[in-house]
Amino acid sequence: MQTLLSSNDNTVLLSKKMFRSLVLLAMVGFAMIWAIDFYSAIIIRFDAVSYPICIVSLGVIFLLSYKISLNVLQHLGYFIIAGYLISSSIVHHELLPHQELSSAVQWLALNYVMAYLFFSRQRAVLLTIIVFVITMVGHFWVLSRYDSLDETFGMILNMAVAHIIYIILLWGIVSIREKAVYTNTLEQQVQLDPLTQLLNRRGFEKKITHFSQLKQSVSYALLILDVDHFKQINDTYGHLVGDQVLIGLSQKLREELRHNDIIARWGGEEFAVIIFYHSVGQVLKLAQRLRLSVEQMQIDNIAQITVSIGVGFSHEVSHIEQLFELVDTRLYNAKKAGRNCIIS
Ligand code: GH3
Ligand code: MG
Ligand code: MG
Repeated sequence: MQTLLSSNDNTVLLSKKMFRSLVLLAMVGFAMIWAIDFYSAIIIRFDAVSYPICIVSLGVIFLLSYKISLNVLQHLGYFIIAGYLISSSIVHHELLPHQELSSAVQWLALNYVMAYLFFSRQRAVLLTIIVFVITMVGHFWVLSRYDSLDETFGMILNMAVAHIIYIILLWGIVSIREKAVYTNTLEQQVQLDPLTQLLNRRGFEKKITHFSQLKQSVSYALLILDVDHFKQINDTYGHLVGDQVLIGLSQKLREELRHNDIIARWGGEEFAVIIFYHSVGQVLKLAQRLRLSVEQMQIDNIAQITVSIGVGFSHEVSHIEQLFELVDTRLYNAKKAGRNCIIS
């Protein structure tokens, strides 16, 4: 899981764009709270100074994000906001009358959320534990100055339980997400052909089983393309050039076909394509265009590459497996008919 997700300690999980949006959000948040506190005349001197300092610092971080690495800026941003939230809450309690918890405590949970947003799971766990300890000790110190030890313990324990639940839940959410991403990545890799990055046979079969169950009313055509005399290309120019031919062909197919057509490397030098069509003529025209554009392809010093194509239509059969048999036979006939042609 480590290598796939690269979730080691130095990983930058956010994109720069996302990071900048979050910094802007934080700046807007600070400005709004500042305005609210100011107009409702509840602003304390500490906040009157620290709100603008935080906004300016975040602005600097925003600008620096165009110059330096996110890893440094994420730490900086985190320490500014977490540092502000903890100290502001402690200062608010210093000023409050006996036995009340200030509304500033509601913001403290943000420190845990931010840690899991900005950092890898391991680093977030470490940071949240450190922040948790500082928060508890700081609040214990300030509350115990005015309340009895029993009352202070009660309030701190209450806060501690809530904070621990936050930390455990966030850790759980991130772990579940990581597992899901890991499983998806693995599944995708198993269904892709490493050489051409097209679907492999397994991926293709999975996709067509899925869509043929969903869309029984949709008309589609199956094309199987097989490179002519590919063995000769390998023997003459070498296996690596053969590989380049396969990559070139896969690119050509991607260029010529539409986004919702399904393309796969069906076997060694065979490609399968599912095309959703309006008319048979449209498919035959497309097959012809594919054949001609392969004929005109230039790869290394190879004189010419050609393909034979078998074509079949969903309306010709009652089941998709029969379509594969039909198209396979047509491809075989195209080879017998002299290659570089289409049989439908
Ligand atoms: P035909 O016109 O009848 O299709 O002849 P052909 O030579 O293309 O057919 P054949 O099936 O005999 O040869 C296919 C060759 O494709 C044999 C195999 O070595 C080669 N091949 C299969 N996979 C790869 C690959 O990934 N890379 C390369 N370079 N060659 C491959
Ligand atoms: Mg073949
Ligand atoms: Mg061949």
